Amino acid sequence: MTIVIMKFGGSCLQNNEAFGKILDITNIYKDSKKIYVASALQGITDILLKTAHNVVDKKEIDKNIALIEKKHLDVIEEIFNQDTEYYTNSKDWLDKKLSELEDCIVDIEEFGLEPYYIDYISSFGEILSTYILSQYLESKKINSIFISANSLIITNDNFNNAYPLYELTNARIKNHLVPLLENPKENTLICVTGFIGRNKIGYTTTLGRGGSDYTATILARSIYDECADKDIKIILWKDVDGLLSINPKYVSESFLIRNLDYIEAKQIANFGAKVLHPKCLEAIEERKIPLEIRNFNKPLEKEKFTIISNKTNKDQIKGISAIEDAIVITIISGSMVDIPGVLGKIFDVMGKNKISVSFVAQSSSEISTSFVVNGEDSEKAIKALKSEEFFSEFYHINWEPVSIINITGLKVLDNKTKSDIFNALAKKNVNVKGISQSNDELNLSLLVKKEKLMDGINIVHDDLCEEFENNNCTN
Ligand code: ASP
Ligand code: MG
Repeated sequence: MTIVIMKFGGSCLQNNEAFGKILDITNIYKDSKKIYVASALQGITDILLKTAHNVVDKKEIDKNIALIEKKHLDVIEEIFNQDTEYYTNSKDWLDKKLSELEDCIVDIEEFGLEPYYIDYISSFGEILSTYILSQYLESKKINSIFISANSLIITNDNFNNAYPLYELTNARIKNHLVPLLENPKENTLICVTGFIGRNKIGYTTTLGRGGSDYTATILARSIYDECADKDIKIILWKDVDGLLSINPKYVSESFLIRNLDYIEAKQIANFGAKVLHPKCLEAIEERKIPLEIRNFNKPLEKEKFTIISNKTNKDQIKGISAIEDAIVITIISGSMVDIPGVLGKIFDVMGKNKISVSFVAQSSSEISTSFVVNGEDSEKAIKALKSEEFFSEFYHINWEPVSIINITGLKVLDNKTKSDIFNALAKKNVNVKGISQSNDELNLSLLVKKEKLMDGINIVHDDLCEEFENNNCTN
């Protein structure tokens, strides 16, 4: 039997209608074993964090706690009959958790805001929402169990952005989750809190903002390692159909990417597709666990969704993204060629000033080196270089505002694709001022003048991104 790990975000938990859709989904996947990972209700994590950071303001705290209570009560009252045990259980749970939250606030007042308090406080959102979800399923006669992920996911001590310790996590999964999954008698639906874990000594940790997707992938990986059944998939229910080939602000008719390889997806996620964090892919890539991104409002959709797996259509460009506001800095010297350590010096200056470099190009003549930094860092970067004697004495330093177009997919490894891209750009007089693609890198970065960004991106999209309807995937 397939094991499906599904993640429901806050927008899937907002009212009776949304919970009804979760019930529909449960029916659609009735023949699979299911684990549901839930995020906090919408906006709750933000309120919790605000509260942790402002414990001195008593009025604000009372207001926030009242708001958290109200948002949950509204849902509880909407989805349960008041004379049922599910209603009472959920209300009791809410009271209990709010009083634990208040105790923690008193501790922060006394001891100061240690990092672990922030994680502990922000974990309440998932602890509340997931319990309510599990009660909802029970109320619909679906055998369900609530598990807080801090009994399953063991992490390092990196509060706010913890990393799972897989060996320890696997042992927990083996003891607590696998027996439930492998029990042939019952098909218990397991509801696990997103976003949270615990470190070795037992303090609650969190996996970074938006971390519930990550929870789903961590669980999938550990289940894969510990369960005899390897037929596992992940579904992230979102309010969009999946990953788009380009941000619709550039091209309104942007296409849905129906299939991608893990490495392609990592590139896309790194280039700012907010829909998915690259960490999620890192967790499942080696085990080739497929991950689907689906629209919560279209659970029966057969074609319009994104699947990330080891199969991809290699004939498609998978994504185009842009860095709109950047500058390219070029350092030039006729005399200082073949001197070891120049690049090291450049990056050292940038590193010391906490400036990230997003693009580097140097020809083998070594006469000039170009690199790109974000627009907001431009002044700092130029000043820092000029104030280094080595550069001010021996080099010319030029700079110019630019945009970068990134074109991603296995397809960019072909020469033919590159020639198509440049032909397309030439047609519209978009001059490419710099190029970067390292060996085997599935991304081609092109520097263009800022005012040519829209033209450039549109022409590449129109000429190279065919309708992504066909699905000729290969490994
Ligand atoms: N509730 C957490 C957040 O808002 C985690 C999540 O939503 O995935 O960041
Ligand atoms: Mg959220």
